[in-house]
Amino acid sequence: MIEPAADDFAIECPVCRAGQSPRDICRRCGADLALFVRAVASRRTARRRLERAIMTGDPDATARLRSYLEWLGG
Ligand SMILES: [Zn+2]
Repeated sequence: MIEPAADDFAIECPVCRAGQSPRDICRRCGADLALFVRAVASRRTARRRLERAIMTGDPDATARLRSYLEWLGG
């Protein structure tokens, strides 16, 4: 199955709370956001897949994705 392209989303810098589009370096405080942005994007993808798994009644994928999201911190 082809995944839809990641849509745009906004992030808030965990250091200074500046809202911005995803980027590697915070526009305000210069914090390294690369890993943070990857985690946020991965969580969004996992949530979409979890919705689909629930809709299609796939218990294995549902359990795996719930576990992954729990590990990621919700
Ligand atoms: Zn910042």
